[in-house]
Amino acid sequence: MTDASHPMDPAAEEPVLRLENVVRRYVQGEASLEVLNGASASIAAGEVVALIAPSGTGKSTLLHVAGLLEKPDGGEVYIEGRPTATLDDAARTAMRRNQVGFVYQFHHLLPEFTALENVTLPQVIRGLKEKEARERAADLLAYLGLGARLTHRPAELSGGEQQRVAIARAVANAPRLLLADEPTGNLDPTTSAYVFKTLTSLARASGLAAIVATHNLDLAATLDRRITLRDGLVVDV
Ligand code: ADP
Ligand code: MG
Repeated sequence: MTDASHPMDPAAEEPVLRLENVVRRYVQGEASLEVLNGASASIAAGEVVALIAPSGTGKSTLLHVAGLLEKPDGGEVYIEGRPTATLDDAARTAMRRNQVGFVYQFHHLLPEFTALENVTLPQVIRGLKEKEARERAADLLAYLGLGARLTHRPAELSGGEQQRVAIARAVANAPRLLLADEPTGNLDPTTSAYVFKTLTSLARASGLAAIVATHNLDLAATLDRRITLRDGLVVDV
């Protein structure tokens, strides 16, 4: 039993991501568009959440704010319990690099580099020794079913393979939070299902918190929880 004088370790209970009354607006001339208008949400470690909402409702905005790519105009974004609103740019960038991985609809892999190099590079940039970075990259790619594609360049890979390399790259530095913005939006249904499955099993195996924006309701149904955006708020569906 716990009592008030012996509280449980708060860090153990802390969600990886917590949005608190987040406001994000785009001002153009006289007009102000409130995309997020007091949005709150919590994502726990090991939880893979689908973000389903029509185009233009603010899915990408939410992911950018959650991943510290954009600053909110109000409210607070906590990453592993740490408030981020008052961080300076260098601290935000460091936190984003260390704690957050992004996957986009288009892979953005470096075309001149092999799959293995694309996944090795971010780790070396972060300071890992090349040999260790390559080993981790090879392990990740093998986990994602790409063990036989290590030396292929992006142009020599299928769309689904490119996205799996992009997923490996996103988690190469062992982030706590994975944000995927319509990662299968550009793939056929069978490939989408496979990429989705590998993404979710990787997230669960690594205890990551993940948000996956998608239009695919069947795939969303396979995740732990579903949220949407309504009038600038995050609501469960
Ligand atoms: P979604 O990802 O759900 O399609 P977005 O987050 O990209 O939606 O966009 C939400 C709304 O904000 C849209 O109406 C979009 O036009 C607008 N918007 C997004 N980014 C900007 C920006 N940089 N400047 C002005 N308006 C923007
Ligand atoms: Mg979008």
